[in-house]
Amino acid sequence: MSAPLTEHEPMVRQRRHNFIDGQWSTPSRADVIDVENPCTTSIIGCAPSATAADIDMAIDAAHRARRGWAATPADERAAFIDRIREGIEERLEEFATTWTQEVGIPITTARAATGGLPISGLRAIADIARTMPWQEQMSNSRIVHDPIGVVAAITPWNYPLSQIATKTAAALAAGCTVVAKPSEVAPLCAYAFADVVAAAGLPAGVFNLVGGTGIDAGEPLITDARVGAISFTGSTATGRRVMTAAAANITRVCLELGGKSAAVVLDEEILATAIQASIASCLRNSGQTCTSLTRLIVPQHLAAAATELAAELFSAAVVGDPMDERTTIGPLVSAAQRDRVLGYIRKGVESGARLVVGGAGPITDLPGWFVAPTVFADVDPSSVIAQEEIFGPVLSIITVADRAEAIAVANGVDYGLAGSVWASDPDEAVEVAMQIEAGSITVNGGVFNTEAPYGGLKQSGIGYELGRAGIEEFLTTRVLHLV
Ligand code: NAD
Repeated sequence: MSAPLTEHEPMVRQRRHNFIDGQWSTPSRADVIDVENPCTTSIIGCAPSATAADIDMAIDAAHRARRGWAATPADERAAFIDRIREGIEERLEEFATTWTQEVGIPITTARAATGGLPISGLRAIADIARTMPWQEQMSNSRIVHDPIGVVAAITPWNYPLSQIATKTAAALAAGCTVVAKPSEVAPLCAYAFADVVAAAGLPAGVFNLVGGTGIDAGEPLITDARVGAISFTGSTATGRRVMTAAAANITRVCLELGGKSAAVVLDEEILATAIQASIASCLRNSGQTCTSLTRLIVPQHLAAAATELAAELFSAAVVGDPMDERTTIGPLVSAAQRDRVLGYIRKGVESGARLVVGGAGPITDLPGWFVAPTVFADVDPSSVIAQEEIFGPVLSIITVADRAEAIAVANGVDYGLAGSVWASDPDEAVEVAMQIEAGSITVNGGVFNTEAPYGGLKQSGIGYELGRAGIEEFLTTRVLHLV
């Protein structure tokens, strides 16, 4: 099915300033980066194209502000985080619409997600900051947890509010100051977030936002010795580059990277529920979600039923204008992303996987970057489409002989971000989940908890966001051995 383009005025947002030292500051060069609506391909706004000079100013402001902010009591820091959360809550619809227009996520998903993680995650971070032990006594030793200083927060385009909001809140809670650089592909939600932070009245320099590309703005940020920690979310390839650059100054890195997550279904009784939930995850944000369950692992005797059900659900997806409330699949974020995903679909066909639904052909006559929701069955677990992150609406169904093989296949990738296990016996589900090498595993549909730490294993990253562990990423430890 496909939904036509709705009549809606695109919001044009021209953001030509960086937010530095508590004010909107004119960048060192006038060039801007255009922001495209991926459904209509029209330009809906712009953001600055910062250079090393702008980054230097922002780091300088954050560096000057760091001692004052570190000395601000944790309760007061938490109160600022509450104020930022309230500012987001007041503007939920603006954030959701901006996200849909700059990324193409269906508006209904954008509304639900905007009211979800950024709100509950920030509430939890503020609450934890109020009760965290900043000093501990261990016999004659005093353990002191200090803020690490300036945090460089670099974010991708797919969840453009929650990533910048949770990184910023955790750093502020820890007593650190922030220089944030959003993705140049979808920077407008980050600018709206900076409006909220500016209105919250933080001391000057505590939060700074600079727009620009990875090379022009990101590189000077990650190579500056005044930066205490780099909190990066993005692709594994860029994460590797960030980690290499950070080595020059031995800067701490927290990396939230790509994934190739699997849903493991163990028996027939739970098959329909498992497949519905897994496919909702796979198709969320057109598959442009780091934790998407893009591999479905089923026992041989359930393969035909699983494939039929998956095909039905994929065929029922409504592809179209993401501002239309009936739409469940919007476009991919850019022409480059569309071409990349189509390339993987062709590789899937070449690998001998069975194309059940979708494919590399056109899906709608809308002008944007749409890809047909695509299901492959009989996928070889070692093939490219079963190993690499596609970041599009593409599911690979893999059949296995038994439980041991299911676990081996789930773990047989370089990534370890997320996963899910489904079994009618909850004990069996937990037993299998304990053997899955991933940072976040849902068991029989368990709900994502924003108070708990979130992070990836293997090439999905290092370190954590959310919860106490997310704050601890930005703390150092000193020990005073007392007489
Ligand atoms: P990306 O790696 O291309 O870019 C991410 C950010 O890094 C952008 O702000 C970009 O400008 C910046 N950047 C690029 N090169 C840089 C450099 N040399 N130095 C410093 N910064 C640089 O990723 P993307 O395409 O924006 O996002 C998609 C990827 O993000 C996917 O792989 C997805 O799985 C991953 N992701 C992971 C998580 C997670 O929590 N693990 C969450 C969301 C997205």
